[in-house]
Amino acid sequence: MARHAHHEPHGDDLLAAAKATLERSGEQWTAMRANVYAALSGFAKPASAYDIAEALSRSEGRRIAANSIYRILDLFVTANLALRVESANAYVANAHPGCRHDCIFLVCDGCGNTTHFDDDSLTGGLRAAAGAAGFVAERPVVEVRGRCADCAATARAQSGQSTH
Ligand SMILES: [Zn+2]
Ligand SMILES: [Zn+2]
Repeated sequence: MARHAHHEPHGDDLLAAAKATLERSGEQWTAMRANVYAALSGFAKPASAYDIAEALSRSEGRRIAANSIYRILDLFVTANLALRVESANAYVANAHPGCRHDCIFLVCDGCGNTTHFDDDSLTGGLRAAAGAAGFVAERPVVEVRGRCADCAATARAQSGQSTH
């Protein structure tokens, strides 16, 4: 299966790429937006606006309302800095803010970890099928629920123990 290979920055590089992408869209990289992006990219799992509000309230030492986080997350999604995981009602930092993809998410029902990959042949097929049905596809949402490798291994070990 061919995966679309492209540059995926991490850490400070990811922050710099996000800043550049937001500024290209005509928006300012404010201190608050930078903090929200840093908090979002620090989560191993998809984070809700409440998760981020809580993390920032702790690190800033003042109460930050989830409402203001929502607005920034919406802006991030529009500007391609963040992606919404619909089935988890949460957000992840976009690993490739510089280019647009129909991202495919693998969401673990055991631990909540979410990984993503891009396969334009899969999502292109969905868009083509929608188009053939006369439907104008704007954004395919492809999320696969199941168990990550760690949780699957744990489940196997536990079922092994119970059959002694
Ligand atoms: Zn992607
Ligand atoms: Zn898991």
